[in-house]
Amino acid sequence: MTRPILKARKFIPIIQEMNYDIPIPGLRLGILGGGQLGRMIAIEARRMGVRTLCLDPSPRPPAFGVADECIVGDLYDPAAIENLAQKSDVLTFEIEHVNSQFLKVLEDRGFPIYPSPRTLEIIQDKYTQKSTLAEANLPVPRFSPSVEAFDGVFPLVQKARIGGYDGRGVKIVRSVEDLRDGPEVSTFFEEYIPFQKEIAVLLARGRDGEVRSWPVIEMVFDPETQICNQVCAPARISESLSVEAQKISIEGVRALNGVGVFAVELFVTEDSRVLINEIAPRPHNSGHWTIEGSLTSQFNQHLRAVCGFPLGSTEQTMPAVMINLLGSSGSRGTPIIRGYRQALSLPGLAMHWYEKSQVSTQRKMGHVTILRPTLEEALELAAKVGRTLWIDGINGG
Ligand code: ADP
Repeated sequence: MTRPILKARKFIPIIQEMNYDIPIPGLRLGILGGGQLGRMIAIEARRMGVRTLCLDPSPRPPAFGVADECIVGDLYDPAAIENLAQKSDVLTFEIEHVNSQFLKVLEDRGFPIYPSPRTLEIIQDKYTQKSTLAEANLPVPRFSPSVEAFDGVFPLVQKARIGGYDGRGVKIVRSVEDLRDGPEVSTFFEEYIPFQKEIAVLLARGRDGEVRSWPVIEMVFDPETQICNQVCAPARISESLSVEAQKISIEGVRALNGVGVFAVELFVTEDSRVLINEIAPRPHNSGHWTIEGSLTSQFNQHLRAVCGFPLGSTEQTMPAVMINLLGSSGSRGTPIIRGYRQALSLPGLAMHWYEKSQVSTQRKMGHVTILRPTLEEALELAAKVGRTLWIDGINGG
C-alpha cells in the first residue's frame, strides 16, 4: 500500500503551529463529487486562494473548469479515492453517497477528512441517524424497523435506510395493502407528520467546535402543484420556534460530532413543535441564498470549517427567496433557458447556472436568488420569475 499520505499528515500541524499563518496559496482541498455543490465550493476556493481537486464519475461535471483539477473516478473506488487523497491536503465530500468505509481507513492512517467518515457513516443510514438523534434526546418522529410497532395506525412513511435522496426512497403507506409493493431495499417506518411547514437550519461547526448558524429558512410550496421548489429566508415562524429549531439543530450536529456545513431539515407540527427529519453533512440546496444574502456563504463557510480556518459571520444582509431551475416536464437534450432576459431585468435577481450539458425532467440545472428589502417583495418577484423563467431542452427528440 502506498504511503504518501504522510505529506498531508504533516500539513495540519503547520496550520496550528503557525497560528493560521498558513501557506496560502497552496492548500489543496480534495472534494469527493464534482456536482453543483462541488462547483460552488470550488468557486469560493478560487477566491480564497485554496486549490481544489474534484473526483467525479463524469468527465465534465459542473465543477469542471472551476476546480483546479477534475479526476474521473467512481466515488466508491478505493484506488480513485486514494489517488485524490495523495494529491490533497484535506478531503471533504459534496454528496453522501461515497465510500465511507475506505474514508475511515484513510482517516485511521492520519489523513484529515471533514466531516469525519464516522459522522458520514451514521448519516448514510437514515435509521442509524435517527437512532443517534433519539439517543441524544432530540425530538424526531416516532420510528421503528417494524410496521407492527405502530399497532395498525396509518398513514406511515416507509424510508429506505440507505441511498435515498430528493424524495426517492420515501413512500407514504396508507394501508396494509400498500406494504405489498414496497421497496426491495432495507427500510424502516416513521409516523406520518401532518406538518404545518418544512423548515431547515443551516449551520457550520469548525474543527475547534465553534458553531455558527444562519437564520432558519422555510420551504415554499406552490399552492397549485404542491411542489416545493423555493426556499425563503428567513422562515415565517415565531421567534420562539426559531430559537428552538436552532437549538435542537446545533445539538443534533454536535451529537454527530460534525465538522463543516450541515443542513438540518425539520418539520413544524400542527401543534407548533419542531421535529428533526434528517441532517445533510454538507452545503445544501436550502442554503444557496447565502451566496448573496449573507455575509458568509455556505460554500465559503464549509471551506473555512474543513480547512481549520475561523468561521465567518452568518449575518443575513437582506430577505431572500431562492428558486431551483429544474428541467421542465418532458425536457431532453441540450438545455435552453427560456425567459433569461426578462428574468435578468428584475431587480435584485442573481442567476446561477451549473453548466450541465444535458437537461431532463426535474433535473437541477441552476437556481436564482432574489434579494429585496422585504420578504413579501421577494416572494412577489419570485412568483413572477416562476411564470417567466423555465428550462427547456433542444435537439432532444
Ligand atoms: P430525502 O432524503 O429523499 O429528501 P426525506 O426523509 O427528507 O427524504 O423525505 C422527503 C420528503 O418526504 C420530506 O421533505 C417530507 O415532505 C416528506 N416526509 C418525510 N418524512 C415524513 C414524515 N415522517 N411525515 C410526513 N412527511 C414526511
